[in-house]
Amino acid sequence: MPLEILLFVVLFLALALGWWLGRKERRRKLPPPGTTSELSRDYFVGLNYLLNEQPDAAIETFIKALEVNSDTIETHIALGNLFRTRGESDKAVRVHQNLFARPSLTKEQAARVQFELAKDFMAAGLLDRAERLLSELVGQNSPTGQASQILLVDLYEREKEWQKAIHTISPTMLKENLQLRKAAAHYACELAATQLGKSNIAAARKLLKQAAAFDAACIRATLLMAQLELQGGSAKAAIRILLRIPEQDPAYIPIMLQTLVDAYQLLDQPKELVNTLEKILAEHNYTSVLIHLAEILRQKGRHQEALEKVDYYMLRQGSLKGVDYLINLYLHQAGGDERAHLLTLRNLTHQLLQQKPEHQCGSCGFESKQLYWQCPKCREWGSIKPIIGVEGE
Ligand SMILES: [Zn+2]
Repeated sequence: MPLEILLFVVLFLALALGWWLGRKERRRKLPPPGTTSELSRDYFVGLNYLLNEQPDAAIETFIKALEVNSDTIETHIALGNLFRTRGESDKAVRVHQNLFARPSLTKEQAARVQFELAKDFMAAGLLDRAERLLSELVGQNSPTGQASQILLVDLYEREKEWQKAIHTISPTMLKENLQLRKAAAHYACELAATQLGKSNIAAARKLLKQAAAFDAACIRATLLMAQLELQGGSAKAAIRILLRIPEQDPAYIPIMLQTLVDAYQLLDQPKELVNTLEKILAEHNYTSVLIHLAEILRQKGRHQEALEKVDYYMLRQGSLKGVDYLINLYLHQAGGDERAHLLTLRNLTHQLLQQKPEHQCGSCGFESKQLYWQCPKCREWGSIKPIIGVEGE
């Protein structure tokens, strides 16, 4: 028997037992008028359907025979949840909605069923209905109320309603939940990036300050603030802010380099740019820094110097990207057979590089070419970083 069917049978038997015990208990207190002493026939019909691997017919029979009491409510909730985790959210909605309509539920029980129903709607993609149910639960001083508030933040995040998501997070939640602090900083960054796109510098600045207040370690807020300063013409301020990134988290150095180059170019200070890159490279041997540095030297006609530098670093700690760039440098001065050999080699490194991801999620291992601030697989914020090592930086 498949595991899922077995689970249904177990749940079903638990319900039948709860129903029977509940009935026995009630009979001891108050003899129910006009009821039979036998277990409802419908339960056996439903069980038969389950054993014959016909869950659709079983669920219909089961809902029809639904007997809710304090002994069976947990199992009813679990049955609905099982449907949801199986990806059958329409059936989960039916079970939970049926349960929700029972007037015998206590206030806390009704809240729990409402919460599960909201999760069903979210799983079904009916976000507006889930939002309505969760909004009613938020503010209730109970574990369900708190769980609903966290789920509502998640819902607004899925809808990209960043402002609403920020407003839903309470100061207590921020204090107690590091993941929410990280997420809130990114919500503010999302809003700031939109304002920056419209050149609303003042509004973007306010949002980035808010992001940094949520999470002082938010690299994205630092990078956006530097880009904001650069956009406003303050290249010096942009450089000062960018140079915080190696202290915040050196793994993100590769993503700040282009803004750093742009800022020094605006100031027309190529010497200072070379010095800064040399300083970063001395502490953090990343291929991207080396390539940026060598490229500046090459453009200034200092080809041999660029070649020797890359050669030196590749001998100390090589990387595929570095070797590919080194071959390019050699190609500029090669001729004849040597050139043909180098081209073959470069073809190989190009192909290898094309296949290699450049970023990886520290939480779930998801790999990608581009940098995502939120992992598309595990949905964690700020968990994807440039890959370090032979196949990366
Ligand atoms: Zn991930």
